[in-house]
Amino acid sequence: MIELREVNKYFGALHVLRDIDLAVGRGEVLVVIGPSGSGKSTLCRTINRLESIDSGAITVDGVPLPEEGKELARLRADVGMVFQSFNLFAHKTVLANVMLAQLKVRGRTKEEAERRARELLDRVGLADQAAKYPAQLSGGQQQRVAIARALAMDPKAMLFDEPTSALDPEMINEVLEVMRQLARDGMTMVVVTHEMGFARYAANRVVFMDGGKIVEDRPPDEFFAAPSTERAKDFLSKIL
Ligand code: ADP
Ligand code: MG
Repeated sequence: MIELREVNKYFGALHVLRDIDLAVGRGEVLVVIGPSGSGKSTLCRTINRLESIDSGAITVDGVPLPEEGKELARLRADVGMVFQSFNLFAHKTVLANVMLAQLKVRGRTKEEAERRARELLDRVGLADQAAKYPAQLSGGQQQRVAIARALAMDPKAMLFDEPTSALDPEMINEVLEVMRQLARDGMTMVVVTHEMGFARYAANRVVFMDGGKIVEDRPPDEFFAAPSTERAKDFLSKIL
């Protein structure tokens, strides 16, 4: 579903992605972990072209990502992204937040968009919050709205960049539960997270990044039982 081949990315002189080769199969859940600054966010952002790449190739469902234009907007909508900060429109209701891109990007009618939005709000457990504004919701609820909004595009894959890092501990699980359900429903997912429970039990593969490189790419049971690199061992010893 997602394939990166020899992807390199620089910020000025800083080489942030180094020869990244990565393939995420349909329905696969990939968890990306690694120290701060290792390139995890940049990796996610290049997958839906929020950042350009300097060399290499990225395809989503076999289609190479174009550099710009209308085609890019459409392909970008095929890959949903959920960030640490929820990025909801503060002056719009929850319902309107989930409808907006459906109208603008997918060209749906208001009725279609509202029906789909209500269906998805129900799926993330927020059917009764549709008329509220983001500020009236808890952080966990806002993040679930952000997930519903991304799903409303009917994406082929979903990227999550530390979706629970800004949340109070008691709200983390309600967001992870929505993500676990998505995984069970067969969504292709790339998840950057420090939630090792999620990595262990929801991921098909764990990728460990360090210094812009993928240094391990293995099933979670193998990775957690015995990381093969010192760097990963050291990282795990600090967060577990
Ligand atoms: P992570 O998500 O693993 O913490 P990032 O992908 O955010 O890492 O960052 C990787 C490296 O790229 C870091 O050194 C960071 O400071 C740098 N970086 C990220 N975004 C930019 C940017 N827009 N301009 C310049 N440097 C950046
Ligand atoms: Mg990051």
